[in-house]
Amino acid sequence: MNVYDSHRIASILRHLGFSEASSLKNADLIILNTCHIREKAAEKVFSDLGRIELIKQERAQEGLSTIIGVVGCVVQAEDEQIVKRAPYVDFALGPLTYHRLPEILAQIGRKRQEPLIDTEFPAESKFDYLPQNTSSGGCSYLAIQEGCNNFCTYCVVPYTRGIETSRPVEDVLKEAKTLVSEGTLEINLLGQNVNSYHGTDASGRERSLAYLLNKINEIEGLQRIRYTTSYPADITEELIDCHKNIKKLMPYLHLPIQSGSDKVLKAMNRRHTSGQYLEIIAKLREANPLLGFSSDFIVGFPGETDADFEATLDIVNKVKFIQAFSFKYSRRAGTPAALMPNQIEEKVKKQRLDILQDLLFSYQLNFNKETVGKIVPVLFESKGRHAGQLVGRTPYMQNLHAELGKEFLNKIVNIKVTEATTNSLSGQQEGK
Ligand code: SAH
Ligand code: SF4
Repeated sequence: MNVYDSHRIASILRHLGFSEASSLKNADLIILNTCHIREKAAEKVFSDLGRIELIKQERAQEGLSTIIGVVGCVVQAEDEQIVKRAPYVDFALGPLTYHRLPEILAQIGRKRQEPLIDTEFPAESKFDYLPQNTSSGGCSYLAIQEGCNNFCTYCVVPYTRGIETSRPVEDVLKEAKTLVSEGTLEINLLGQNVNSYHGTDASGRERSLAYLLNKINEIEGLQRIRYTTSYPADITEELIDCHKNIKKLMPYLHLPIQSGSDKVLKAMNRRHTSGQYLEIIAKLREANPLLGFSSDFIVGFPGETDADFEATLDIVNKVKFIQAFSFKYSRRAGTPAALMPNQIEEKVKKQRLDILQDLLFSYQLNFNKETVGKIVPVLFESKGRHAGQLVGRTPYMQNLHAELGKEFLNKIVNIKVTEATTNSLSGQQEGK
């Protein structure tokens, strides 16, 4: 979602006549787009700001002025604390108000006053005010839903991104068609809780994600569809059917479970048990036996015992996730879990994370190794680290490197996989 927001912010700036600077030192305007999900991410903002202030000072010595802005969830959570801790910041905007950037920059241009802060939850939708979303190459993100009403007890999202809202069906379809006409081959529909999408159609009727997927499937030229991130309890039969019937829907689903222990899931206020999660996975596999799953995990949630942690390892062994993101529980001020007793020691969290990651990586490596020798369609998205190399994604979101000319950028090419590590694959064009 943050990558998507940054892309939209860059497009607002382009409309205002800005262009990308070659380095921070050459930038007249520097905007940090920030994440508040875990403490580490939030603290990084302040250390980055310290470095940016030095650049601002160096530029001032050369007679150049620099505007510094902070946007995103850290602003929403910290509000005025941002400019208290970093007084050289010129403006700070929450994730729902960055469409007001032109107005803010105009105000700063007229007269540098007190830092401008806007952390409202506005009545208007930013999507109605942003310039047209533009394709980011072969692969584009399209936000269809924002915010969350789930209030998992550890999570800041409902407080920083606000309550759940869905964009109207027609707006999403129009944007999807424009992206495809600009060369997008793959669309990833985004939302914090994307499968509870309930946007209205032209007649005012509420429509589901499954409805939207079927409509997007009809767009000619589009080859791949994904949606991220889903909440297990909101997976419907209709959505499961999409995995059987929509060939463009990639055989990969990110479906976070967080913990394998029902006691911990309850304390997290998740609306599903581990048994219900396994049932959903079984139904999805029945709809499409080729589906691979990924998940998010939190270890060291308050009160998590060794037995609870074992239950998490057990779920991993049952589902055999092909990828996963795993985190140590991070205590976030203002969330209910921050006040729970039995907070887990850092040392124990680290031990558990190491054990969990070893297990997750072993399944990931096995899956990647099984791909060796196969021919897979890869959508090449960027240049590789070495000259003459491109990097792309397989249908299962694996990164793949291949020696290919840049004429293959933003194209889908059949690649024979020759090597696999935990994090990436390499291969060569079929028949070469
Ligand atoms: N809406 C999505 C993702 C939200 S944030 C979902 O519900 O799955 C992405 C991930 O960050 C979460 O899935 C969770 O695993 C992790 N996360 C959120 N808050 C956290 C916290 N306080 N400490 C550690 N990890 C956290
Ligand atoms: Fe946060 Fe996801 Fe839970 Fe919503 S569903 S509160 S975004 S972890």
